[in-house]
Parts: sequence; structure tokens; C-alpha cells
Amino acid sequence: MLDQFSRQINYLRFSVTQRCNLSCGYCGNQNCLSAKDELGAYEIQQIVQAFVKCGIKKLRLTGGEPLVRADLTEIIERVATIEGLDEITATSNGVLLTHDSAKALKAAGLQRINISLDSLNPLRYKEITGGGKLDDVMNGIDAALVASLTPLHINAVLMKGINDDEADDFIRFARKNPVTVRFIELMPFGPNGDGEAIVPNSEILARHPYLLPVEGSSKSQPSVDYTAKNWQGKVGFISPITEKFCDSCNRVRVLSDGSLLPCLGSENKTPLKPFIDDEQKLMEVIKTAIREKPTGHHFERGCAAGYSLQSIGG
Ligand code: SAM
Repeated sequence: MLDQFSRQINYLRFSVTQRCNLSCGYCGNQNCLSAKDELGAYEIQQIVQAFVKCGIKKLRLTGGEPLVRADLTEIIERVATIEGLDEITATSNGVLLTHDSAKALKAAGLQRINISLDSLNPLRYKEITGGGKLDDVMNGIDAALVASLTPLHINAVLMKGINDDEADDFIRFARKNPVTVRFIELMPFGPNGDGEAIVPNSEILARHPYLLPVEGSSKSQPSVDYTAKNWQGKVGFISPITEKFCDSCNRVRVLSDGSLLPCLGSENKTPLKPFIDDEQKLMEVIKTAIREKPTGHHFERGCAAGYSLQSIGG
């Protein structure tokens, strides 16, 4: 459906948990909801179904870390039964993704997965993530490729003085592997609220003039993709700060407690849980919130909000 600025809203990002098995300094916070406050698989299905009836075509399950939910496969199986939903994807840190779990997720109906990875150096990865093992993610990437959870996107957030010296390593990774490495600009959330460590994507691109734009990059995604001759993969640039894409935003979010967040830059949440068993009312509430989706974020002016992406679902 269209919002008040005539944007076609057809993409729902659903945070199924705020819990995470990693604790990345720029992403996490200490006050996440526990499992008992999360929606159940049935409740998620009911909400997604109402969204699909309001025009949502694409669903991304996120968190927190979606794979910490023991019932993730059941959630996927349930939403996969919803008529009119064209795409079911997920975003994960990949640590818990094994060959068995990747296969099970694919069989349940998951089409693709994005894996977040901020360093290719094991020691640094451990530091950034508060103890994560790079080998586990690498195995997760392999498992996702083998299970055809593709095209596979690897999302990296570069931060000045932390991992900005790894841009070339990531680009090399994209040259040698059938994946798209996407650089996402740091947004001013949570502990890094001032966003000062941001590495503008234009700086990375300027250092690699041989990169060629990929023709026909999807208009519905904010990533601008590039590749080069004889490469296996691609690099993508997602620039929410230096090249805002709010004008073409097609997404809304639901948080793990069932509240609807129409814009990443807004603190205006609408609770959906009270209407789970009344689809007409649920759709009415969803339509009103979508219609009133704000014009965009103002991250370029400074700190976004008191919350972190872990709590709202990145
Ligand atoms: N646990 C899953 C994962 O690691 O992909 C899903 C949730 S995580 C919040 C989703 C994405 O948000 C990650 O790629 C993470 O790097 C990104 N993210 C977290 N905080 C961010 C920030 N302040 N600016 C930009 N991206 C951020």
C-alpha cells in the first residue's frame, strides 16, 4: 500500500528476538527483552498475514540474532504458508549456522540469508563481537552457499580506527567468492550514538576506480552494487547517512514484542499484540501506521535515539 508520501510499502522487517549470541559494541545494549516477552510463532504468523493483506510482499526475519530462537524453523514454516508473500529472507551473524540448520531453514521456506561480518581477522572479530569465533561465521557462510540460501550478502560495517583498514580485504573476499559484500555506513545508534566513527562509502569507492556498476541493480534495495572483470562476487554500498534513501523507502518494522515501527528514525511505536486475534482491526491499525510513516530519518544531524539496532532489529 501507499504511505502519505506515495511510497509503495511492501517490505516488512520482523525482529523475532532481541537476544543475541554476540555483543558487538556498536550494536548491542544491555536491556534487551527476554524470551518470555517475545511473540510466539503463531503470533508472528498472524501479524505477518495481516501485513501481507495490507500489501507486504517481502519479509526479512531479523533480531537480535534470529538463530537463537529454537523455533525459527517453525516460524519460517508458518509464514511460508501465507499466500501472497513472495520472499522470505533473514539476517544473521552466521555463527550458529551449520550445514544442518541451513538445510532445515531452506526446507522450511527461507529463500536467502544475509550474514553480518565486520572483520576477516579472527582476533579482531573476537574483539568487535565480544567473543565470537570467525571460523564459525566462515562455516556459516559455506553452509548458506551449500544450502542455496542465495544470492548471499555479507554485510560489513566499517568504523574508523576499528576495522576501516579491512575494506580491501573485504573487496578481495568479494572478488574470490560468489557473494556480495555490502558496506553499510555506521548509523548513530546506541553506544556509538554520535556516529563519529562512520566511514563514508564514497571514500571506499574512490579508492577502487576499477569497480563497475552492476546494471539493473534492483530499485527496491538501497544497495548500489559494483563488480569487476573476472570477479566471482560483487561489492555493494548502502549509504543511509551520506546518500539517504528515505524517498524510496519501502519498509516498515515489527519489533520482537509485536510493536510496529514505521521508520528507523522514529520512536513512535504502535502495539499490535492486542489485535492478534482480530485480523480486521489488526489490518486497520497497520494501515493507519503505514499511511502515517514519517518522511525519513535525520541521522545526519546526530544521535538517532536511545535504542540500539539489536533491540529494534537491524
Ligand atoms: N544478529 C543479526 C546480524 O548480526 O545480522 C541481525 C541483527 S543485527 C542488529 C543486523 C545488522 O545491523 C548487522 O549487520 C549490524 O552490523 C547492523 N548494525 C548494528 N548497529 C548498527 C549501526 N549503529 N549502524 C549500522 N549498522 C548497524
